[in-house]
Amino acid sequence: MLSIHSDPIGVLGTKDTGGMSVYIRELARELGKCGHVIDIYTRSQDTEGYCLTDLYENVRLIHLGIPNGHSLSKLAMYPFLPKYFRAIENFRLAENLTYDIIHSHYWLSGQLGNMAQKLWECPHVTTFHTLGKIKNQTGVGQPEPDFRIAAEKEIVENCQRILAPTARERRNLIQFYNAPSDKINIVPCGVNLKIFNPMPKADARQRLGLNPSDTILLYIGRFDPLKGLGPLLDTIPYLADRHRIGLVIVGGDGDESAEYQIMMQKIKKLGIDQQVIFAGQKDQHDLPPYYSAADVLVMPSSYESFGLVGLEAMACGRPVVSTAVGAVDSLIRRSNAGCVVDAPTPHSLAAGIQSVVDNPVLPPAEKIRESILEYSWPNVAAAVTAEYESAICMQYYEEEERIRAQVSC
Ligand code: UDP
Repeated sequence: MLSIHSDPIGVLGTKDTGGMSVYIRELARELGKCGHVIDIYTRSQDTEGYCLTDLYENVRLIHLGIPNGHSLSKLAMYPFLPKYFRAIENFRLAENLTYDIIHSHYWLSGQLGNMAQKLWECPHVTTFHTLGKIKNQTGVGQPEPDFRIAAEKEIVENCQRILAPTARERRNLIQFYNAPSDKINIVPCGVNLKIFNPMPKADARQRLGLNPSDTILLYIGRFDPLKGLGPLLDTIPYLADRHRIGLVIVGGDGDESAEYQIMMQKIKKLGIDQQVIFAGQKDQHDLPPYYSAADVLVMPSSYESFGLVGLEAMACGRPVVSTAVGAVDSLIRRSNAGCVVDAPTPHSLAAGIQSVVDNPVLPPAEKIRESILEYSWPNVAAAVTAEYESAICMQYYEEEERIRAQVSC
């Protein structure tokens, strides 16, 4: 597996570390449990050498350093990819390793996957996690540069298979990247059903010191403009009985970060300091009480590849209000657990939140959880394994065809 820009064991909910890292960790762990052997390559904070970590059964994480590589932003890493590939290749050759399949994550690693597939003679499966063109269509945040879009097109052209987490991403790949439809299969993301379990709301609130009678809204995630925390703050004044509303925010890079300062300024301007609680970044094991204490999880995103926090909230039996992004809208619709809003605007979000908190007949927690039980990581890993196997078979078949054609010539 290639995850060059983002460390799969990085701190979740901070700048470049979120759903993709969870996906890589959980998928690798499940594959390892089934007896597959996985090396995950990522960048190191050192400027040279490598560091090997035994992550799970059969899973190793290899941090690789290159001169000047450690502090580069995502985009600045692009010209350094050949050097990273050289570092991977040096390690692989020194250890005398061969691989049966490459699974790259995000376009930067997809580029490394393109380089590797030529030399390693094994199929390259890719998961984009986000697409530059779709990000740009939202008009939120810094536009993604043309070289990212060009790199994504190259990956689409050269890889053997694309795993899209939703039908929406599959459509986007076909429409905006001319991806051949037979190259893309849908394999959803998952949720750790052992960690994310319902608990009584009153117990969760007591544990977190939250008022038992308030209406608690929950936001969990990175403070990226695409995630819509700003519009969610703008929504609070539009809610009825706003003084009984509490918005708990989990994630982010701490009080010193520019994003936090921007949110604080907004909160002061809106006069909602009494309503907002910043809980900071939390380990996943500490998240279930937050989900269970909430009346609703709000996802005011302009773009999500899948939206893991929506799935985690449902695993904890809580309803979700979300824009139509990732898989979250279809999950909400099939369970009746929440509301899908048209846009991340204060009016739409306020109407959606109000409709959920005022709904006297929301499904009970067990029913909400039941609706998502199929999204376990073992199920996801089984589906991904089937994709790997079929990509390998396809390569053998193509190779055989090639030899047959040569012989008949
Ligand atoms: N997360 C966490 N601690 C935090 C904030 C987030 O563990 O403080 C996790 C959360 O449980 C989820 C992931 O980070 O699994 C975020 O994934 P999601 O798909 O919702 O968003 P992304 O980061 O991919 O945009």
